[in-house]
Amino acid sequence: MKTYSIPLVPGPVSVPQSVRNAYLTDFGSADLEAEFFELYGDCEAKLQQVLETQSDVTIQTGEGMLALWGALKSVLRPGDRVLAVANGVFGYGIGDMAKQVGAEVEVIGFGYSDVPDPAQVREAALRFRPRLITAVHCETPSGTLTPLHDLGAIAREVDALFYVDFVASGGGVPVRVDACNIDLGLLGSQKVLSLPPDLSMVSVSARAWDVIQDVNYVGYDALAPWHTGPADRYLPYTHNWHAMMGLQVSLDALLTEGLANVYRRHDEVAAFCRRRLQEIGLVLWPARDEIASPTVTAAKVPQGWIWPDFNAALRSHGMVIGGSYGPLAGKVFRVGHMGSQANEDLVARGMEVVEKVVRSA
Ligand SMILES: *Cc1c(COP(=O)(O)O)cnc(C)c1O
Repeated sequence: MKTYSIPLVPGPVSVPQSVRNAYLTDFGSADLEAEFFELYGDCEAKLQQVLETQSDVTIQTGEGMLALWGALKSVLRPGDRVLAVANGVFGYGIGDMAKQVGAEVEVIGFGYSDVPDPAQVREAALRFRPRLITAVHCETPSGTLTPLHDLGAIAREVDALFYVDFVASGGGVPVRVDACNIDLGLLGSQKVLSLPPDLSMVSVSARAWDVIQDVNYVGYDALAPWHTGPADRYLPYTHNWHAMMGLQVSLDALLTEGLANVYRRHDEVAAFCRRRLQEIGLVLWPARDEIASPTVTAAKVPQGWIWPDFNAALRSHGMVIGGSYGPLAGKVFRVGHMGSQANEDLVARGMEVVEKVVRSA
């Protein structure tokens, strides 16, 4: 199998040695031993710190998509109204998922190089009266970051639950779950936390737990068993103890560095990446710095190149990045500088490769 010395894919990101080491111990059975539940409690408390919330944070086996599906199914009954706020692949995709779950969905859509306009969202919410409003913090396929505060206030005003996918931002950008009235905040282990795609985490507000208990959805991805499961030491399946050890190492590293420093590191690396790409003559996506995510930078595939050739040329120099999806497929490429990859030396080496490849054409 090929390996790359310059890993800059926007997730799954490169797993640091300290996290890999944490996976190597032998453990007992996670559903039976007190030590596992202490580890779970410690990780939950640290996630609450990172996400700035008093809400419970569930930690389930499975990567980010499990959180997206499980949270939808756990709070929706067929016919429930969902307002999907969308400005990218995940935002529109969550609207489709809610439809597949049987909800009545209205999509309030914006361009892929834009962020949602709260005034338009509010108007739609007041008219449509949804039970759930969904949004995406960092649209990884297009590199945008949506402000959450106003959307959360709108959800509260119309008495809807606020569901936010911050899979690609949580831990690298402040998410402020409580201040933004987020009822269901979704996180995966393979982005900023820099673990393999093993865990999904959901912050669940008291309001959301009430709805979850009411809906009583059952299934592998269901949130309901996690309400009292950890306290009762009764989980619906054998947990991934190895991944939980990795998660603890990752959260300890974030908190030891200090969240303000972690956020600054992401901001600085993103600014550096955007500046370098522009120096090389590439066109950034989105064009406006204010809405660009600190965790991932997107730019247009250089003139004169098609994505498969550009991708192959970068790979031949040991650099691996992401293409895009949906309407941006083939048009946009993405540099993932989140978690372990929010490292200016690494991004600098990547930009040298991009420069060499672009100049060689
Ligand atoms: C990565 C990601 C997910 C999880 O999706 P996978 O592609 O399966 O890892 C969900 N939402 C967003 C915004 C993501 O970036």
